Amino acid sequence: MKNAVFLYSEQLEKYSYPKGCPFKIERTPRLRKTLASMGLLHGHGRREVEPQPAARHMLEIFHTPRYLDALKASENGGWDIDALHMGIGGPDTPVFKGMHDYGALACGATLYGADLLLSGEADIVFNSFGGFHHAGPELAAGFCYINDVAIACLHLAQRGQRVLYLDIDVHHGDGVQNSVYDRKEVMTISMHESGRFLFPGTGFEDEIGEGEGRGFSVNMPLPPRTYNDAFMRCFNEIAIPLINTFDADIFVFELGADGLAGDPLAHLKLTNDVYQRVLEFLLSQHKPLLMTGGGGYNIDNTVRAWSLAWSVATGVHEDAEAMKFGLGGVMLESTDWMGGFHDHDQPVTDEQRRRVDPEIEKTIRKLKDTLFPIHGL
Ligand SMILES: [Zn+2]
Repeated sequence: MKNAVFLYSEQLEKYSYPKGCPFKIERTPRLRKTLASMGLLHGHGRREVEPQPAARHMLEIFHTPRYLDALKASENGGWDIDALHMGIGGPDTPVFKGMHDYGALACGATLYGADLLLSGEADIVFNSFGGFHHAGPELAAGFCYINDVAIACLHLAQRGQRVLYLDIDVHHGDGVQNSVYDRKEVMTISMHESGRFLFPGTGFEDEIGEGEGRGFSVNMPLPPRTYNDAFMRCFNEIAIPLINTFDADIFVFELGADGLAGDPLAHLKLTNDVYQRVLEFLLSQHKPLLMTGGGGYNIDNTVRAWSLAWSVATGVHEDAEAMKFGLGGVMLESTDWMGGFHDHDQPVTDEQRRRVDPEIEKTIRKLKDTLFPIHGL
């Protein structure tokens, strides 16, 4: 039995991005309500823990003091042109009350999870309100202000850990990749819709790291309408051999749910089966596992995907399925959903295969040519 911690703070519920912004903090309270209603937060090694905001010196592992000051000042009416130059107050990084403290709380949760894994008090932790992978040292971007996942990776590396950071959010995990681009203690693997079509416009096959870090940044850009089997082909052929060779001490897994079909901001056609399959591989490696949320702008799908992830991670997936027509179904409040945590199948057309498959093959070939030799594969 694994010790699994679900991180949650009611403090979250007082924050909200401005009306009209697609990022909804309410995803996390809804996820928690769903899991609690099904009895999936307690017993059998599971527990819920309340995190505290990260201390300023921890935020400064990655962010500059100038940026953190501007973030804090902006929410109190001190927003100015310098802040805007750091991305604060842009269309996807609106100023809202408490934005600094909200970011610090999310970061505190991710760091607390990392420390629980380091001390051996937990085997698996899930911070569904973390995963802000776009923020830079002095940059707010893509709904992200404080990069909790970069900070956690750097913190773990400082503690002597070899970290595997896997990011399946539909957007490239640019902020995390950049933070460790020249380091070999952290391998970043990002699978995302190609930057040719989607923010942040980066994450191509030739971004492989530099200096000591050469070969430790891995990018799999995916074409629009990528479907489950095509995604898994990339994962199986590229990610698995690299993860095996790297042999990390700890896994950090960013599970943005915006790659699922029906997400209003992106164009992939995945179902949450992919999340289960990737997670099952990670679990089979028996390493400490830090899971975070990320994007996910279809709220029903996101809550369902993360419910599935938690139930798979804690080994109660079968039980949860058996309850599919019970209370959990009511709590998920979905209109087009018949019960259970799994999405409807997404039929794949021949035309879709004709467009997607050659792109996937090209990416696999490029990465095998450039990255595999560096790792002796
Ligand atoms: Zn995203």
